[in-house]
Amino acid sequence: MTLRVGIIGAGPSGMAQLRAFESARKKGADIPEIMCFEKQGDWGGQWNSSWRTGLDEHGEPVHSSMYRHLWSNGPKECLEFSDYSFDEHFGRAISSFPPREVLFDYIKGRVEKSDVRKYVQFNTVARHTSYNAETEEFTLTVENLANGTTTDHVFDKLVVSTGHFSIPEVPEFKGINSFPGEVLHAHDFRGAERFAAKNLLMIGSSYSAEDIGMQAHKMGAASVTFSYRTAPMGFDWPENTVERPLVTHFKGRTAHFSDGTQGEFDAVVLCTGYQHKYPFLPSELTLKSKNVLYPANLYKGVVWQQNTNLFYLGAQDQYYTFNMFDAQAWYARDVMIGAIELPSLAEREADIQLWLERQSALPDHNAEADFQSDYLRELIAATDYPPFDLDSVSQLFKDWMSHKETDILGYRDMVHRSVVTGTMATKHHTRWLNAMDDSLGRYLHGPSQDVDTGTLAAVTGEFSAK
Ligand SMILES: Cc1cc2nc3c(=O)[nH]c(=O)nc-3n(C[C@H](O)[C@H](O)[C@H](O)COP(=O)(O)OP(=O)(O)OC[C@H]3O[C@@H](n4cnc5c(N)ncnc54)[C@H](O)[C@@H]3O)c2cc1C
Repeated sequence: MTLRVGIIGAGPSGMAQLRAFESARKKGADIPEIMCFEKQGDWGGQWNSSWRTGLDEHGEPVHSSMYRHLWSNGPKECLEFSDYSFDEHFGRAISSFPPREVLFDYIKGRVEKSDVRKYVQFNTVARHTSYNAETEEFTLTVENLANGTTTDHVFDKLVVSTGHFSIPEVPEFKGINSFPGEVLHAHDFRGAERFAAKNLLMIGSSYSAEDIGMQAHKMGAASVTFSYRTAPMGFDWPENTVERPLVTHFKGRTAHFSDGTQGEFDAVVLCTGYQHKYPFLPSELTLKSKNVLYPANLYKGVVWQQNTNLFYLGAQDQYYTFNMFDAQAWYARDVMIGAIELPSLAEREADIQLWLERQSALPDHNAEADFQSDYLRELIAATDYPPFDLDSVSQLFKDWMSHKETDILGYRDMVHRSVVTGTMATKHHTRWLNAMDDSLGRYLHGPSQDVDTGTLAAVTGEFSAK
């Protein structure tokens, strides 16, 4: 009987799984029966973002945490697919830090070319899973959100690719209930324009805090204060930006910090992270993890240790993204079709423990980037995913982090070289700090686009400031 594979989620990870099977099919392999379920109306996961917050048009939690003016926070050269380059997609060199719409276009381009959309049922949410150990079959119940009907599907292999940056982790702060200004989690942030002339408190010290804080600065916030739990980010911040330790409590508009200082704020953004949440899985199949580079219980970061018919993609903290999901999807594919034979439970556990030990001793961000490069190296060596120069990508991560240290507002204006094609990125026509239009058209066609569309950029004269 043909193998039956179910894929839950058609974000970059689920799309990578579809592409992995397609790549095998093109090489003449028999591929399984594939069904992919995506709760949104389109693929792209986080990159398919909209203005909506809270619940979507079907009353489901809005998935994407992305926002207007979101530009890639790492060099695109670090995430480039090794079988589909930026040059191939855009037909020319582009800058190293494109905005969301540009990256969304890129990831869609690859799968559209490979005719895999037919496998995806959109507006269809995974609701419930059970596993029959005797028959080794999963029964997955999905709901068609357009008409409310539920259907059961039986699979031999199940791939969970639903992401883990959607369900907010929200701590409580004494007095925050009576804070008279706006309080929101980063998941619900959609644009910093409304923070112009406002004093903003960002709670958190990771990517979201840094990026939303600098978006607010870009949009004219009066001040930005970051509050950290463990350590400050320590960048060379622009004027009116400071870091304080954790908030102990709020009194009215005033936030009190653990070092005895205080400040008055108009708005608070909780950049306090996300939870791994898989409500459609029974507890024995559910990954419980913090946002770490190597979640326990996943062999090679992909295969569920206690049931090797179950796979998780993209479940780790991410230096690498799109190309890592590819490496994982190719690996998962080869395990599913038997091209990779898994070692015993004990050997798998020993392998997981080695990675966990190494993870616990990582001294800094540079070592973390090397760690994830080594992880990809293992996965790629095991499959026919086109290899690429991981040492060079590791170096790109280090250069990028060092540029951030030097110039937190200017690192996105730097250019990097592709390890896939050797192409040097072009300098973008507008400095990130002055770029007020993040649309694909404006990005690709520059100022002329503004004249046509009359966007904010034309009004602000963004392109005159280089
Ligand atoms: C604010 C923010 C900024 C980021 N910036 C960058 C960046 O600049 N560069 C970068 O490389 N990465 C960035 N990332 C990381 C980003 O998460 C990854 O690039 C990528 O989107 C992860 O892909 P994924 O497929 O694993 O998960 P997701 O993109 O989250 O996709 C998961 C998919 O599963 C679907 N789904 C969820 N539950 C169900 C269900 N029950 N049934 C059916 N479908 C379901 C969702 O609708 C979604 O389409 C950012 C993330 C966030 C949150």
